[in-house]
Amino acid sequence: MNLTQIIELILAQAKTKGFGTKPEDINVAEKMVLIHSEISEAYEAYRHKNIDGPGGFNEELADIIIRTLHLAGILKIDIEKEILNKIKTNNDRNWPWDKMNEKHS
Ligand SMILES: [Mg+2]
Repeated sequence: MNLTQIIELILAQAKTKGFGTKPEDINVAEKMVLIHSEISEAYEAYRHKNIDGPGGFNEELADIIIRTLHLAGILKIDIEKEILNKIKTNNDRNWPWDKMNEKHS
């Protein structure tokens, strides 16, 4: 199953659950905040060592992706193309690690 097919599943579920399937159904900013809320939920689950239980880190990572694909599907963004283009862009990108306060290997 590819991302386009997963988006179709997400949109079908969104239709039955009333989460919106068209731009006029949603508030984009609200959907973005909901993606961010899933990031916070993932952090809290990780912080409390709930990795693969209900509401655990693994499930919350899935929520982040589901909400992101839902928004991409509503806005008809070719997210597979965007992801592949961004990976290609990152291949040629260098990060100034010596000026960043972030772990890297
Ligand atoms: Mg969640």
